[in-house]
Amino acid sequence: MNPKVYDTIIIGGGPAGCAAAVYTARKKLRTLLLTEDFAGQSISAAAIENWIGDRLISGIDLAKKLENHVRAYPEIDIITSAPVVAVSEASACFFDVVAKGGEIFRTRSIIAAAGARRRRLGVPGEAELEGRGVAFCSTCDAPFFQDSNVAVVGSGNAALETVIDLLPFAKDIYLLLRGDNLKGDAVTRDRATSSPRVTLITNVVVEAILGEKSVTGLSYRDIGNRELRELSVDGVFVEIGSVPNSEFLRDLVATNESGEITVDHKTAETSKPGIFAAGDVTSDPFKQNNIAAGDGIRAALSAYNHVLNIKKHSPCAESL
Ligand SMILES: Cc1cc2nc3c(=O)[nH]c(=O)nc-3n(C[C@H](O)[C@H](O)[C@H](O)COP(=O)(O)OP(=O)(O)OC[C@H]3O[C@@H](n4cnc5c(N)ncnc54)[C@H](O)[C@@H]3O)c2cc1C
Repeated sequence: MNPKVYDTIIIGGGPAGCAAAVYTARKKLRTLLLTEDFAGQSISAAAIENWIGDRLISGIDLAKKLENHVRAYPEIDIITSAPVVAVSEASACFFDVVAKGGEIFRTRSIIAAAGARRRRLGVPGEAELEGRGVAFCSTCDAPFFQDSNVAVVGSGNAALETVIDLLPFAKDIYLLLRGDNLKGDAVTRDRATSSPRVTLITNVVVEAILGEKSVTGLSYRDIGNRELRELSVDGVFVEIGSVPNSEFLRDLVATNESGEITVDHKTAETSKPGIFAAGDVTSDPFKQNNIAAGDGIRAALSAYNHVLNIKKHSPCAESL
């Protein structure tokens, strides 16, 4: 029996994938949404203050709203807990999408909206002490650091928001960064650094996280004088950016040196006709929820045009 053929398969259930799904459903494309979860990275944010239409919303509530909106269209097939592991070209007209577990889905177009995951330091102690002082989600873990001294590694918004989340709990907070400038936006920067309990340690590289049963400190090297120093802390939050979830497509589409999928910003088209990409998995420099949603819509409309176009042309109209 031939497998069910979709017009489009959307990979990812964050703002980009959900926005794309609503639009492809309304265009009557036969849509399958394959995702690990309905969430998106900002699920760990306690307060999102720039999602247009909501003055303030938690990451969890935003994720619920996105999921409810997608599920309001019963014509969208949805499979969760189904990470995509590979994509291949089945013919000139179709792609095969392979989910973990081996199930294969055939489609005329793909919208890659798989976002990104946290980058790791890759130093000794990080993996060994994860969950025992090494943390990656301040909304989840800040309350565990009541009256503790904590280091936060990073210089962007995520690092600054981590400091803000820790302020009600931790005693002293050390913010360690490679350069000498914080990168986050001005409001967040001010909020994070105005407390006398926050100390900036600039131009350093973390070399190891120390501790046996739990974190007791970290060692870092001064980039200027190469001196190695130790800092005594009970926790280390790693907030050094993200890695795009593009591995399953890297053989098929062009990516930049960071592994982000390069797209035509007018159409969301990748280097492979029929494959579109949206949100944080792309080379767009601005990683934001609203931008991801807009990207998802652009990709959906382009996928719609692509599908209409190829359906007109034999053999793509009929062949499998
Ligand atoms: C702590 C934190 C706070 C943030 N706060 C804000 C904020 O206040 N405002 C703002 O605008 N932005 C914020 N951001 C950035 C924002 O979260 C991202 O820009 C946005 O989530 C990108 O959306 P996306 O849909 O592209 O990807 P993601 O949100 O990363 O979603 C990707 C989706 O794809 C799924 N997925 C991943 N790999 C696969 C696979 N192989 N197969 C199938 N599914 C897969 C994931 O499960 C997820 O559902 C924050 C980010 C972080 C980390």
